[in-house]
Amino acid sequence: MSMNYILEVQPKEMEQLRKFYEDRIVNNNNQYVLFHAKDKAISVTAYTSGKVMFQGVTAKSEYEAWLAQFQTKTVIATIGSDEVGTGDFFGPIIVVAAYLPEQHIDAVKKLGVGDSKKISDDTIISIAKELKHFIVHKSVILNNHYYNKMYAQYKNLNKIKAVLHNRALVELTNIRKADQIIVDQFCDPKHYFNYLTDQKDVFEDIHFETKAESKYLAVAAASILARFYFLEEWIKLENQVGELLPKGASSLVDETAARLIQKHGIDYLNQCAKMNFKNLNKAINLIDHTV
Ligand code: MN
Repeated sequence: MSMNYILEVQPKEMEQLRKFYEDRIVNNNNQYVLFHAKDKAISVTAYTSGKVMFQGVTAKSEYEAWLAQFQTKTVIATIGSDEVGTGDFFGPIIVVAAYLPEQHIDAVKKLGVGDSKKISDDTIISIAKELKHFIVHKSVILNNHYYNKMYAQYKNLNKIKAVLHNRALVELTNIRKADQIIVDQFCDPKHYFNYLTDQKDVFEDIHFETKAESKYLAVAAASILARFYFLEEWIKLENQVGELLPKGASSLVDETAARLIQKHGIDYLNQCAKMNFKNLNKAINLIDHTV
C-alpha cells in the first residue's frame, strides 16, 4: 500500500514543480487543483492552497527530493507588479513593478501598505511619497496617444497590459534579482506569453495570481505606487485639458467627453482618452441629440 506525501510550497516552487511535471499533466476540473500530473509511477496533485500531494510508487522519494531542494531556500526578496487605469476612459495606463527585499517588509507594513483599492487617494499619496524613496521600482506609463496607437494595432487590452508588465519586469530584474516574481493575474498565463512573442526581451519566471495585491506585500506596494503615479498624471492631464476630469467610465464621463468634442473636435480625445471605450460613442450620441 502506498502513502500520501504532502508538501507545502511557495508560488515560485509551485512553478518549478509544474514545469518539472509538465509533460505528465492530465485534465482536471477541480477549481482547487492547479494541476494534476500522473504516470505509472507517480501522481502529483497541486492545490491552489499551496499544498502538493504525491502518491504512487515513487511518491516517497520524489517528495523527499523536492523537500530537500526547497528547504534550503527561503524567500528573501519578492518583486510584485500591478497596473492601473484600465477602467478609466480618460488618462494613461500605468504599470509598476516593485522590489521588496525581506529587510523592508516591516517598514512597508508600518506605512500601511495594503490593497490600493481599499485605500483613499489621500492616504495612497502619503504612503507612496515615503515608499518611492526606499522601494526600488520601475514604472511604465502609457499615455493616451500611444495607448490609442497600440490599441489600433493590437485590438486587445490584455496584450497591451502584457507588454507593459513585461517591460517593467525586464527593467527591474536588470537591476534587482528576486526569489519570486508575482504579477497580479489579468489573463491566462499561456495567453500572457503568447502576447509577448513579438517582444525582444521576455521575462519568463513569473508566478501569476488573481487578487495578488491583497495577498502579496510586494504587489500591494506596486499597486500603491502605480495609483500614485496615475494620480500625478491625472492632475497633469486636467491642467492640459483645462477642466476636472471624472474617473471611471460613468455617464459623467460621457458628458465630459461630449463637451470636449464640441469644444475641440473628436481628435482632441486621442490625447486624453481611450478611444476604444464605449464612452466615445455615448458621447457622440449625446451631441447628436442636443443638436
Ligand atoms: Mn491588478
